[in-house]
Amino acid sequence: MNAPIRGRQTTIGAALDRAAASLGTAGVEQPRRDARLLLAETLGGGAALITGYPERRLDAADVDRFAVLIRRRSAREPVSRILGRREFWGLTLRVTPHVLDPRPDSETLVEAVLARIEDRDAPLQVLDLGTGSGCLLLALLSELPWARGLGVDISPSALANARENARILDLSSRAEFRRGDWGRELVGSWQVIVSNPPYIMESAIADLAPEVARYDPNRALSGGADGLVAYRSLVPQAARLLGPGGILALEVGAGQADEVEQLLGAAGLLGLCRARDLTGTDRCVLATSKAGISANTIG
Ligand code: GLN
Repeated sequence: MNAPIRGRQTTIGAALDRAAASLGTAGVEQPRRDARLLLAETLGGGAALITGYPERRLDAADVDRFAVLIRRRSAREPVSRILGRREFWGLTLRVTPHVLDPRPDSETLVEAVLARIEDRDAPLQVLDLGTGSGCLLLALLSELPWARGLGVDISPSALANARENARILDLSSRAEFRRGDWGRELVGSWQVIVSNPPYIMESAIADLAPEVARYDPNRALSGGADGLVAYRSLVPQAARLLGPGGILALEVGAGQADEVEQLLGAAGLLGLCRARDLTGTDRCVLATSKAGISANTIG
């Protein structure tokens, strides 16, 4: 007879305690929260089950599946990558290994852009350079019902991820995704241009949290020797593509706002404002075209 292996018998509460302890030992920042999320996933979204029935036994298959997830998290893989999804701006996005994991920080940019748009029903043209998962573009389109958008990325795998997100969110009819090197091959006149380019100094990447350094694609993180290489390419292109009175919004790394604003000025744009993330760090700079200002204020 196949007697159950005693050591594998465990309750929901005990499994949670043990998993939280091992994640803590692995240096995970919020071990209990993450253990809960992964246990809920194992049990099929059973957050209520975890709280309500801690004494219930886990079956062997669940014990095994939970152990695999906890092992991955102990190797510092982010919960979002283990689950393959992440909430951004209230939307559930698919996140594959080919894209930057969307951060709450980047919601600062979405909020700052929306705050500048007077008429959300306007048929705006939105461009997202380096779209990755599509998070910025899709969040904006979800708030701007008559806007259309183009997301550009150098990575075909990222574009596939972004297209899938557009499809899941029912935004495909208004969102196009195209391969490109920032805005190099593009023409046209856009009312809103956004970008969260790679901005980490190459030498600083190894010192980032393992969740970032090991799991975000290097191409989505590395801003070269001084962190500003991508801005130097894309700012002049964005200046060329920005329509009169249009808004350019760029995410920036900690301490980069001054230098990025200088690049914007050198490309003939006017700085509008900065927006801070939840930690109080300047996370986004906004600019507009001079043509737009003079069209609005002169004559
Ligand atoms: N915000 C990311 C981080 O530091 C970096 C993203 C980027 O380079 N655009 O964790």
